[in-house]
Amino acid sequence: MRNQWKSPGELKKLQEKKLRSLLRYAYDRNEFYHRLLRKHDLSPSDFRTVDDIRRFPSVNKAVMMENYPQAIVSKGFEVSDCIHAATSGSTGQNLNLVYDVRTYEYYMAITYRNFAALGYMPWHKLAYTRYESFKIENQFYEKLGITRRQFISVFSPPEKQIAMLKAFYPDSVTAYPSIMIEWAKMLKNEGETLEIPVFIRSEAEILTKEARSLIEDVFQSPIYEEYGSAEFVQFAWECKDRGYHISSDSVLLEFLDDEGEPVAPGEEGEIVVTSLEAHAMPFIRYKINDRGVPLDDVCSCGRGLPLMKLVVGRNDDFVWLPNGDRVNPRMIIPYFELAPGVKEFRIVQEREDWIRIEIITGSEFTDEVQKKLTHELYTVIKDHTVEIQFDFCEEIPRGRHNRPRPILSRVRKDASSV
Ligand SMILES: [Zn+2]
Repeated sequence: MRNQWKSPGELKKLQEKKLRSLLRYAYDRNEFYHRLLRKHDLSPSDFRTVDDIRRFPSVNKAVMMENYPQAIVSKGFEVSDCIHAATSGSTGQNLNLVYDVRTYEYYMAITYRNFAALGYMPWHKLAYTRYESFKIENQFYEKLGITRRQFISVFSPPEKQIAMLKAFYPDSVTAYPSIMIEWAKMLKNEGETLEIPVFIRSEAEILTKEARSLIEDVFQSPIYEEYGSAEFVQFAWECKDRGYHISSDSVLLEFLDDEGEPVAPGEEGEIVVTSLEAHAMPFIRYKINDRGVPLDDVCSCGRGLPLMKLVVGRNDDFVWLPNGDRVNPRMIIPYFELAPGVKEFRIVQEREDWIRIEIITGSEFTDEVQKKLTHELYTVIKDHTVEIQFDFCEEIPRGRHNRPRPILSRVRKDASSV
């Protein structure tokens, strides 16, 4: 809690200290990172400042998967004693993860700091959506009615999820936007609202302006965004003053251009992450496959945690046009999210000149709605040589968060091709 009010200079010193000790640790105790450092002729003494991290080779999910668990779990940790999780790969690549208990608790504290900044108090009730419930449950203080939580499984049908919300009556909610859109649409259809008095936090997925206003309207509560992943729990979060703060005491984020050089503040780059806390399974220069913009602005809230802006995400979230332009998914998704009778959809760009829309519809979906969607899509892409095809499906493959991924481009997947 104190770290967030430190000056940027103090935070950088803290990062440096943590990074040095982490690299020493990884060299001494972790077979995978030891080999990697030796292979590049590096030793812990080569890392003095935060910028020295760039000498370290980057790693990705595939490499970590190959080395799990033998080489990637540090000496002294038994996999069976650790807390387990898995990444939810939209690519179908799921990385098994372990956290040592201390690291997991640190990550939970980082999350708690985020909640507290949004007005959360220990006696407030929190509902959250996940695949699985939080790993540390039923602490003694919860038995005293403090930090009460309701887990809402992403696998439950929306009717059941809403019933759980109504029964629990949370003060705050943290959930995936695609799920909250479903709740909001259903409640709105019934002419209902469900007030969430403290905050709603939207996690990880694209939150469009239109979806934001629908959710805020039905739940009568402001939404704040969060950026995280299973590997690191949290990278960045939005404060009440709408600054998007990096949790820089927990993670070191780099924003890199195509040559692997840091971009200037205000410019977009590929995000590479180092956990400053993970010991049982260290993550050093891990390519998370997201894009973002580092900012050198100062937030009016007074926190020293640095600011960033999240760009939509992966390269295959964009629609790529024959003339080389790319269309931001935020321009397209809202039309489908909010159209009547659209239950689920996935916009698949098969070729630059061919967009196939997989769609599950209900009775409200008419020819008129389809025509309108086609027209709206052409208005955004401005290229009538692109074929738009509707594929009415019974089922759509599910990616992250047990939701169909809204846009999938098969045209440009490789980050280096931007
Ligand atoms: Zn702020």
